[in-house]
Amino acid sequence: MLLTISTTHFPADDLSYLLHKHPGKIQSVDLSAGKAHIFYPEVSDEKCTAALLLDIDPVGLVRSAGPKGNDFALEQYVNDRPYVSSSFMSAAIAKAYSSALNGRCKDKPELVDVAMPFTVKLSVLPVKGGELVLRALFEPLGYQVNAVQHTLDPTFPEWGYSRYFTVELSNKLTLQQLLSHLYVLIPVCDNDKHYWVNQEEVEKLLEKGKDWLETHPAKEMVVRRYLKNQRLLTNQALGGLLSKDEIKEAVENEITIEGMTDIEEPQLRIHELRLHAAKEELLLAGAKRVADLGCGEGKLIKLLLAEKQFEFVLGMDVSYRSLEIAKERLKLERMPERQLQRVRLIQGSLTYRDKRLEGFDGAALVEVIEHLDEPRLAALERSVFEFAKPGVVVITTPNAEYNVRFADHQEGKMRHSDHRFEWTRKEFESWGTDLAVKYSYNVIFKPVGEVDAEVGALSQMAVFSRRDEIAEQLV
Ligand code: SAH
Repeated sequence: MLLTISTTHFPADDLSYLLHKHPGKIQSVDLSAGKAHIFYPEVSDEKCTAALLLDIDPVGLVRSAGPKGNDFALEQYVNDRPYVSSSFMSAAIAKAYSSALNGRCKDKPELVDVAMPFTVKLSVLPVKGGELVLRALFEPLGYQVNAVQHTLDPTFPEWGYSRYFTVELSNKLTLQQLLSHLYVLIPVCDNDKHYWVNQEEVEKLLEKGKDWLETHPAKEMVVRRYLKNQRLLTNQALGGLLSKDEIKEAVENEITIEGMTDIEEPQLRIHELRLHAAKEELLLAGAKRVADLGCGEGKLIKLLLAEKQFEFVLGMDVSYRSLEIAKERLKLERMPERQLQRVRLIQGSLTYRDKRLEGFDGAALVEVIEHLDEPRLAALERSVFEFAKPGVVVITTPNAEYNVRFADHQEGKMRHSDHRFEWTRKEFESWGTDLAVKYSYNVIFKPVGEVDAEVGALSQMAVFSRRDEIAEQLV
């Protein structure tokens, strides 16, 4: 794993003074589980690049107090740690670039406060939550983010994407700011088990984040992930960083469904994650004509229209008012004719058979089913799975088990006053499995949002694929 930092500040080799590393030499530092090498692939007055190459010893990693996963028996031997930027990269930054990270420069102290144009490249960065999370972390700090997501296996593109990205970040700022952002945010992206989670880490986080984390819109996620979901530590850190009102405000900004303020969903734009997850599934299924059932204000439609693969997008909702907002949001009235032909909004109810819903390759029902009285669900099931019969159906709904994690949780209280029910993972899976059997679909279930070991993720998703459709693809 490789981290390069380049600047075009003049003279560019000022970077070597700031880093306290001679541009003509290769230098190495020891880390707890390997080595970090520092060298300069490029040095001139116009451009200077410093490279930090990590050489992690996978055996040493196991012998030292490495992250002991319990997900599967060989996890401590078979994992991505030696090949990605993770908390080890932060440890390497802290060790190799310690003076720069602490804002010291012996020979040219005046450079410490100079904002310079920097471009950083991380060869392999695992990002839990994908590009959305990556952008949400770096863009508020002024970075231009360029990310290339890697497939799981180039030989089998149908397996889809991995969580690994090659990332390029550009910004004009001081080197100390740059390094403190990387120090904190690399492990936040990765969100895997870290070596560190103790009191000292809270202090390190507060220290490294003191000038920027307070005003970062995703600070809650940053703190939570950095401290790896340790509630006590997280509360301590947040206590030191922001007031209760500020936490509340940060959380409220993340809620995007209109009127959905009954409860705080303490996660970075969880709703956007759901919408993206639904879109990804429809893309993956190769769907061309898709329907957003219970489309509300058209957020998913907007995302779908941005994808060329979707030739036609139908939005349907029972609420006329929501459709009016969707029309406005999608700027239908000003849309060029060709685009306009790709989209249609209709009012209707999912509890009635509707011919207009037939002939679609894919359909999504994002946070819709829980708005129906349970006895009415059977009618929705028939209208979607028996009559409309799209090739793939993506359904998301809250995971009721997660509710205990909300700060203002009360026994039996649902997330939204209009929710008629909220299901546990078991309830949803049992409903979905029966449904799939009854209407000849296959189904898989996935969490949406970060997974809590005990209670699962905030939201849950079922992806149904019509069996005859799968059979056709196999031929
Ligand atoms: N899918 C949207 C909206 C979710 S809110 C989003 O994710 O942003 C639930 C939506 O379901 C509301 O817009 C509501 O009007 C709609 N809805 C509820 N019952 C419905 C029914 N029987 N038929 C169609 N839409 C319905």
